[in-house]
Amino acid sequence: MTKTILSGLNINEIETLIQPLKASPYRAKQIHNWIYFKSVSNIDEMTDLSLKFREQLKDIAQVTNCIIKKKQTSKDGTIKYLVEYPDGECVETVLMRFDNRANLTACVSCQVGCAVNCSFCATGKRGFIRNLNYKEIIEQVLMIQRDTNLKVTNIVFMGQGEPMLNLDNIIKAIEIFNTSFQISARRMTVSTSGIANKIEDFAKLNSQSTLAWSLHAPFDNIRNEIMAINKKYPINDVKKAIKKYIDITGNRVTIEYLLIKDLTDTYECAKGLVELLKDIKCNINLIPYNPVTENDYKKPSGTSVMKFKCILEHSGKKVTVRLERGADIDAACGQLRGKVVQQ
Ligand code: SAH
Ligand code: SF4
Repeated sequence: MTKTILSGLNINEIETLIQPLKASPYRAKQIHNWIYFKSVSNIDEMTDLSLKFREQLKDIAQVTNCIIKKKQTSKDGTIKYLVEYPDGECVETVLMRFDNRANLTACVSCQVGCAVNCSFCATGKRGFIRNLNYKEIIEQVLMIQRDTNLKVTNIVFMGQGEPMLNLDNIIKAIEIFNTSFQISARRMTVSTSGIANKIEDFAKLNSQSTLAWSLHAPFDNIRNEIMAINKKYPINDVKKAIKKYIDITGNRVTIEYLLIKDLTDTYECAKGLVELLKDIKCNINLIPYNPVTENDYKKPSGTSVMKFKCILEHSGKKVTVRLERGADIDAACGQLRGKVVQQ
């Protein structure tokens, strides 16, 4: 008999699972707590359940069927995990800590590979393999919690894959992060390359989680060159969908903007961006390009990043520059490949 995997179940589902064992509903609460807060790896560790009940539970269930295939720790404290699912497919998950904050942010993947294939990103180079279901997404956060014995406080859907192309599972994962992990929706961010119709579907849900748009260029000709998806969903179509999200939720969006030397870090681009975003309630997050072996793009200089930032700030926007985390272990934005790279 295949055993039920406990990770990813909500309290009601655990209750239903243990009904045949004639256990009181309170046992479901205890199990739920062991899974999401005490982050155990197996049923034997659930020590406030009787030995007999644990044995019965072990006959029908197990905590997880995934493993950490590889773990790398950066000198800045960032940890990158390669998580392997039962079918042998792997994705990467990154845990980021910031010295000045108590927050622990998990950057989760939602697909194995990615069909969008942006020219600057390592994930896309593999093509699309498959979607992760919501339990497989949740498993990444549980893996981190089990390994570190810490509680994750923030989630960003910025790992491998395009969340809007796996929206049903993202929505379900957000719900469980919210109800079972007790992480408020405001502490979750969904990042998208800009799939206009799916952004509208997401907007209609009126989720309080933050939406981030990987805009990366203010003009269609440059964006077409680096993000082929722009030919299907040009900037203005996505902008309309983003405005709908702002209207419905009242939330501010995050605009992610990749700075590539002499391509997207120019004065014209900065001015174009100011114009494009003048009627959008947003914060801007500048991401200096992280090198990926397959292409020839270059990092912007420190001065050009500062100049670009100044122009945007002058327009009244709040602008941050994304700290590069874990670049020494290829854990920075765009460097995730989801496979063991032979060294
Ligand atoms: N697919 C989603 C989320 C995952 S990527 C999206 O594209 O938004 C997370 C962020 O990293 C995106 O903004 C993405 O454009 C950026 N990124 C990709 N490759 C990068 C690179 N080489 N250097 C810096 N950022 C990169
Ligand atoms: Fe996919 Fe995002 Fe990478 Fe583009 S940047 S290939 S959408 S993961």
